[in-house]
Amino acid sequence: MRMAVIGAGIAGLSCAQELRRGGHEVIVFEKSRGIGGRIATRRTPEDLRFDHGAQFFTVQTKAFRQFLAGDVNKWQAVGNFDQTRDWFIGSPDIKSFLRPVAKTLDIRLNTQITSLERSEEFWTLQSDSESFEGFDRVIITAPAPQTAVLAAFSGQFQSAIASVEMDPCWTMMLAFSDPVERDFDVKKSASEHVDWMARNSSKWGRRERPDCWVVHATADWSRHNLELSRDAVLKALLPEVLLELGQTEDDLIYFSAHRWRYANVAKPVGQAFIMDETGTLFGAGDWCAGTCVEHAFTSGFELAHHIRDQKT
Ligand SMILES: Cc1cc2nc3c(=O)[nH]c(=O)nc-3n(C[C@H](O)[C@H](O)[C@H](O)COP(=O)(O)OP(=O)(O)OC[C@H]3O[C@@H](n4cnc5c(N)ncnc54)[C@H](O)[C@@H]3O)c2cc1C
Repeated sequence: MRMAVIGAGIAGLSCAQELRRGGHEVIVFEKSRGIGGRIATRRTPEDLRFDHGAQFFTVQTKAFRQFLAGDVNKWQAVGNFDQTRDWFIGSPDIKSFLRPVAKTLDIRLNTQITSLERSEEFWTLQSDSESFEGFDRVIITAPAPQTAVLAAFSGQFQSAIASVEMDPCWTMMLAFSDPVERDFDVKKSASEHVDWMARNSSKWGRRERPDCWVVHATADWSRHNLELSRDAVLKALLPEVLLELGQTEDDLIYFSAHRWRYANVAKPVGQAFIMDETGTLFGAGDWCAGTCVEHAFTSGFELAHHIRDQKT
């Protein structure tokens, strides 16, 4: 069968890979210029790098371990947290482990799907400039609110997604020419408006200098300040962050902010994937199965196996 997967985050890639292995023809459509979705690294023209989305991931299932194929490292961070499970990262960028998977797939980057339509037998996907026809199954892996818009015609999608809650996150990326003299790599609940502070440079395979840090504002602060400009966010949060790090603005060699409108799942659907009335349109992603990278992987993986087992 011919499958369309919308989104080249980990849910889309795990689903596409398993469908391919099941002998299906798969095309992945991704609106951005790169793969990975919220498993993301910002690279600057000066070659500074910041994993500004997901910070690390846990690996609990055999399927996820096999998917990673040993292509990851442990992040042995020092900080104010109880580590019950190992933290894993790709190197040199958090999403590096996805590249070998992506190379085996037909991925159409810079292609935002704007609408879907089903005829008697097949699905047609529409972007701003092109139509893609003849798909037996379509899998949407965009964050829940964006999936709801694409599948607005499906009552089953609407009722499943109605209960999902996703939090935004304003992220800051800061670089200092010399290592910041603090005895932690990670600080959780760092200050009133800061939820997470991490020394990106402490991850395996990253350069020590410049010392690159990623800072996440709390969900509450991010929600209340969602429409601020990047400059306004930096102005509001930098003093608080610099105080924690014992630095001044003069010590900074780079600073920037990024808004994740749909960052973290606060309330998921609670099942691996969702399906429309025809059994040919599906939704997958962290927001179905849980809250994190491994849940997103599992969602895509289990959905692919469900489709492989479907009677046509
Ligand atoms: C700031 C932040 C910190 C986080 N920290 C952690 C952490 O430490 N550990 C952890 O496990 N998880 C963390 N997460 C959550 C984790 O990143 C996600 O659970 C996981 O990456 C979700 O993967 P996904 O494939 O479901 O969705 P996504 O990664 O969002 O992928 C969806 C893809 O669909 C594409 N897309 C959307 N709409 C369209 C369209 N119309 N047409 C084409 N393409 C489209 C998007 O561009 C995107 O690439 C964090 C997330 C953020 C933002």
